[in-house]
Amino acid sequence: MLEVKDLWVTYKSRHGKPVTAVRGVHITIPDNTFIGLVGESGCGKSTLGFAIARLLDGRRNQVAGSVVLNDVDLLKLDERELRALRWKKVSVVLQGGMNAFNPVHKIKQQFMDAMRAHGNFTVTEMKEKIALLLQHVQLDSEVMEMYPHELSGGMKQRAAIALSLVLDPELVILDEPTTALDVVVQHAIVDMLKDLQRRLKFSVLFISHDLGLVLEVAQRVMVMYAGEIVEERSTATLLKKSLHPYTQALLDCYVDPQAEDVRLAGIPGSPPDLSLPLRGCAFAPRCAKAFAACRDEKPETTFGGGGFVQCHLYTKQGVTTDES
Ligand code: SF4
Repeated sequence: MLEVKDLWVTYKSRHGKPVTAVRGVHITIPDNTFIGLVGESGCGKSTLGFAIARLLDGRRNQVAGSVVLNDVDLLKLDERELRALRWKKVSVVLQGGMNAFNPVHKIKQQFMDAMRAHGNFTVTEMKEKIALLLQHVQLDSEVMEMYPHELSGGMKQRAAIALSLVLDPELVILDEPTTALDVVVQHAIVDMLKDLQRRLKFSVLFISHDLGLVLEVAQRVMVMYAGEIVEERSTATLLKKSLHPYTQALLDCYVDPQAEDVRLAGIPGSPPDLSLPLRGCAFAPRCAKAFAACRDEKPETTFGGGGFVQCHLYTKQGVTTDES
């Protein structure tokens, strides 16, 4: 459904050096699929989501490559064409989306504004649709007559998710949608989202730094490091056998809250400065399995095990990518 090819995003800077936050990313998001995008802060995952949705300010950054949705390259569309496509084909829920509701308008009004701007509905149709969407996100239809300050954080984020579905988009991009909420509410919203995606059959790109949450909700996982997707495969396979040393290190940091005798692990060092040219594998200074070639040569992508990995272990050292 959505195919991203060789996508590059560079933030321009008036004073400092340009920062290349996304580096030659290739990804496919099939129809009716829940994909998680995970990585440390600053790895470029939000920039990738914003670039796909064309939400980056062209005066402050340079985007190259292609983002093809149903044979249409979103990067080639003008503002008028994009407006016709937003909400209907692609919609976005941001981390602070729940705080983007206008405090002086009822929730109903804010749904209707989007529906009037991008669709053609009667008032009765709009009210019916809003009530249905609120029901989908497990909110009472009375919420439509409330003001944002009358809702809790969790209720507002549910309403923001309902708003993103108002024109039945094919793809919803959620950028850290539950980060500002407490753990119990986070899990309730993620369960609701998973159920909603299955029933309504849209695709989801769920961006999060929280690998545990992503593993809980996503069918497939993409792991991002220093602006590149270094591993992609099904959640079940990733849990059984992750291949990239960075994915393995992230999994080692993930603690099962039910487990006894838990030992916390961390990843030594820091991610690289994306304003500098990268040489070899960007993870090499932090990788316990690094060898000579890692510091000088950029690893190629190896396909296998139902996904791909970008690491010299599977090319230069011939380690198998099979699941067995
Ligand atoms: Fe580690 Fe080398 Fe693989 Fe990079 S290419 S992740 S440094 S083993």
